[in-house]
Amino acid sequence: MSEITTRDTVILGSGCSGLTAAIYAGRSNLKPLVLEGHEPGGQLSITTLVENFPGWPEGIQGPELIENMKKQATRFGAELRMAHLNSIDLSKHPYELTVGKEVIHTRTLIIASGASARWLNLPSEQALIGYGVSSCATCDGFFASGKEIAVIGGGDSAMEEALFLTRFASKVTLINRTERFRASQIMLERAMAHPQIKFISNTTVEEVLGVEEKDVKGLRLKNRVSGEESTLPVSFMFLGIGHIPNAHAFKGILDLDDDGYILTKDNVFVTHEGKVIPGVYACGDIQDRRYRQAITAAGSGCMAALEVEKYLEEHGR
Ligand code: NDP
Repeated sequence: MSEITTRDTVILGSGCSGLTAAIYAGRSNLKPLVLEGHEPGGQLSITTLVENFPGWPEGIQGPELIENMKKQATRFGAELRMAHLNSIDLSKHPYELTVGKEVIHTRTLIIASGASARWLNLPSEQALIGYGVSSCATCDGFFASGKEIAVIGGGDSAMEEALFLTRFASKVTLINRTERFRASQIMLERAMAHPQIKFISNTTVEEVLGVEEKDVKGLRLKNRVSGEESTLPVSFMFLGIGHIPNAHAFKGILDLDDDGYILTKDNVFVTHEGKVIPGVYACGDIQDRRYRQAITAAGSGCMAALEVEKYLEEHGR
């Protein structure tokens, strides 16, 4: 295995939080190494128009926003590398990361590996992401104005998305694969009482129609009890079936909550068995199951980088 000299900081993830951390760390002359991971650019890179990121009055395409952040980070000396972590050892300092055949030592670490939306994983769904298939109602709801749409899921996320989307869509059909709802009673009742929301239970989506047109035209559905198939004409499908935090590598190393999100103290400090691990910070969706916005991810990325600076300064760098 080859080895390189000790880094001041390594950032895991190149979404909004990781790149904001890289801009700040770069401007502090820390020459951050950003390991882009398996979803370079994070969730913004699979969105279309982002209209709520401050500073872009006409909106900006998600991939363009990420490209701009990358350029900004590299301008200040960040090194972006298409690689992901094999293993990590936080028991000794400098911390040791294994990336492919390389061992990297670093004084500080920023974990910004994000959370991935859970998808149905149908080929037609994957082909239409950004063309009427979305996992983010806050980002894409506006584009569904006046249209009939579907929301998939039976948990609080699905209820919240369905309720939020009634502001735009003329009709929301919520499709749950069973007749049991995971959602809290209050959210479920609120959604059920809404005149614009219709519920379909015991039903799965077999295909998203419109791949050739590159525009969602409807859903082919199957009732799991009767086996009967039907077509639901909708212009949008929003997934509300949960997120998966990309924190598998930290199981047993850091404190995670029951769903695998990294638990943080004072916004970005990570812990193991309740004790803060010095010089290691988590930011963005990997530690945020509540807000999950580009701007909040960017904000916590900034906080993590400022803590890195403070830590290095306190340790004589
Ligand atoms: P949940 O795990 O609670 O619910 C996921 C839902 O998606 C379930 O109905 C599940 O169905 C369904 N699902 C999962 N995979 C598939 C699939 N492949 N095909 C079809 N359906 C699928 O996730 P949420 O994101 O809703 O919530 C996560 C946590 O966040 C919860 O604790 C929730 O309370 C909280 N939350 C709170 C909010 C609030 O209070 N405002 C808002 C959003 C989330 P099945 O039951 O059959 O597995």
